[in-house]
Amino acid sequence: MGLTVNEDKAYSKNEEAVKLLVIGSGPAGLSAALYAARADLEPVVLTGMTMGGQAALTHLIENYPGFPEGLGGAELGDLFRAQAERFGTKVVYDTAIDVDFSQRPYRVETYNSIYVAETLIITTGATPRHLDIPGEAKFTGKGVSYCGTCDGFFFKDKEIVVVGGGDSSLEESIFLSRFASKVTIVHRRDELRGGKILQDRAFANEKINFIWDSVLEEIKGDDQVTNVTIKNVKTGDVSDFETEGVFIFIGHIPNSELFEGKLELDDAGYLVVNNLMETDKPGVYAAGEIADSHFRQVITSAGMGAAAAIQATRFLESEE
Ligand code: NAP
Repeated sequence: MGLTVNEDKAYSKNEEAVKLLVIGSGPAGLSAALYAARADLEPVVLTGMTMGGQAALTHLIENYPGFPEGLGGAELGDLFRAQAERFGTKVVYDTAIDVDFSQRPYRVETYNSIYVAETLIITTGATPRHLDIPGEAKFTGKGVSYCGTCDGFFFKDKEIVVVGGGDSSLEESIFLSRFASKVTIVHRRDELRGGKILQDRAFANEKINFIWDSVLEEIKGDDQVTNVTIKNVKTGDVSDFETEGVFIFIGHIPNSELFEGKLELDDAGYLVVNNLMETDKPGVYAAGEIADSHFRQVITSAGMGAAAAIQATRFLESEE
């Protein structure tokens, strides 16, 4: 059976048979590839749009064991990749655009090829959640950003607003304070969700200020952001606040659109896996943030990836 979407152009693409296809190149995907390569499965990794996943956009990772001084997310991603490639992983800069799980081997169409895969490990991760307020889309890239590491440099000596009270918001605010003259964290409650170490660092940082119990209602500007409308959710007061940048860190949405109706998803859109990383299709596994709304750490994602690869290996062995 052919692919349901893009069928017209699909037949002109090369087909490649693989024992294991890994969709995604973050810590889960590259750890899965490392384990699978060492089991001789010759895995192919589709990088997706961001080689290294969200971790690669993190300025400094201090909680991945083995690196006591911490290291950059992109640097860690390069090391993961080099280790996976050393044992025979093929990393392909391409993105899955359609999947057919109706029969094994499963078919995955990318922009350039069709992979016919005996097993699959899905590690497509998650994307930053948007506020969905007026001005947010219009000013994205013109003062609105979801990545401090990517855009912080553009805000040298400028005043910026950060939205969110979780670890990401605190970690990014601390990073952004290297560039910005002032960082104002707007949080919808009067208590932070982020961990104590990051809270202590943020409170001790002279450039970081807080506006509590408040939400952004609108982002305004001309060519670039110039100000935001802030509402105090307790008093109902609405005020205008001048700022040149708005960084939004309010959680993530799983990248599972491709699998809707094809694999079991939970109510929030995360892929459902059991403790063996198995989805509801035989030989299809998921690991990392696409299947984990709870831990979301480099080490937990890497562990899930390794577990998925071990399970895929056992599954293929059981068929021999
Ligand atoms: P998160 O923990 O879900 O925090 C999201 C924050 O955004 C919360 O403070 C939440 O407010 C706020 N928020 C959500 N929707 C909002 C809305 N529509 N308007 C205004 N505010 C909104 O997300 P995260 O910070 O991205 O962290 C995700 C996971 O990654 C967590 O498990 C975290 O521990 C982990 N992480 C760890 C590290 C680290 O260990 N260094 C770094 C980054 C992330 P409420 O608090 O009121 O819900």
